[in-house]
Amino acid sequence: MVTTAMVIPVLWGLFIAIEWLRGRFRPAHGSRREALFDLVSWVQAWFVVSPLVVLGSAALHATWLPDLAGSLAGTVWWKQVIAFLLLDDLVQYWVHRSCHRWPALWGLHRLHHGPYMGARVIWRNGFFYDLLQPNLWLAGTLVYLGYGEVYFWYYLTKMTVQIGAHSSVPWDAVLYRHRALAPLAWIIERTISTPATHYAHHAATEADGIGHYHGNFGSLLFFWDVLFGTAHITRRYPARFGVDPEPGAAPDHWSVLLFYPLIRSKPAAESAGAAVSGTAGGSSVIASLSGEATAVSMRQ
Ligand SMILES: [Zn+2]
Repeated sequence: MVTTAMVIPVLWGLFIAIEWLRGRFRPAHGSRREALFDLVSWVQAWFVVSPLVVLGSAALHATWLPDLAGSLAGTVWWKQVIAFLLLDDLVQYWVHRSCHRWPALWGLHRLHHGPYMGARVIWRNGFFYDLLQPNLWLAGTLVYLGYGEVYFWYYLTKMTVQIGAHSSVPWDAVLYRHRALAPLAWIIERTISTPATHYAHHAATEADGIGHYHGNFGSLLFFWDVLFGTAHITRRYPARFGVDPEPGAAPDHWSVLLFYPLIRSKPAAESAGAAVSGTAGGSSVIASLSGEATAVSMRQ
């Protein structure tokens, strides 16, 4: 039986190969530290978190719900897809949005916003962000109830869209170049995450009218952003990515980026004021995120 554990490495490898062949695998703003984050995050996601979630979910369900294994396997496939979209993708949208809105949660996700885009970025996140994503555990419940076969295709589709949205080869550019493709572009960019919309989420600034780190949170479906008013579509790509540290400030320690909230940064956060307490660091952008998030919440 073919499993996601066999297919996802091939899929990811394909995107990496395309980036390599197009001369875009090595990031322009990379460093040894960032490359190490990519490597450690990949090991963490594939060889620690995934086994923990898969085996942990199976064990918990077998203990608590022993009679329900496979009990919903006869559900028609499109209802299973809707269940995954609601319990996995929609929940992930709100978790992601919450991490950008609440300073106490930002530290879990901070590592993902590195200084470049690329397929390598897809696995970058704090250990506890990865492990505690409720959508992963909810997907585990659906698989336990009998949705495993549909999950294989759902997850394959989702990862294709997600890796594509992070890829340093912006596949959607062709849609914006040809007038005849404009209607198709309109539909695609409002339905799934694309490089243009997701790059905007990773942008270092919103001042250029392209960046939008207070929105474009969707993973598989960008439609959630359209539905909940967080979409920003420009069909352009930001010049810079990541979270700039405050001038003169030391970058967040690697242990904080990887293991927040178990490990937290010290006094720098305190000196930046109460707005950033509980975050992974005291950078101006985090302070700005806190302040602007408050503004956003007040507008809602
Ligand atoms: Zn984010």
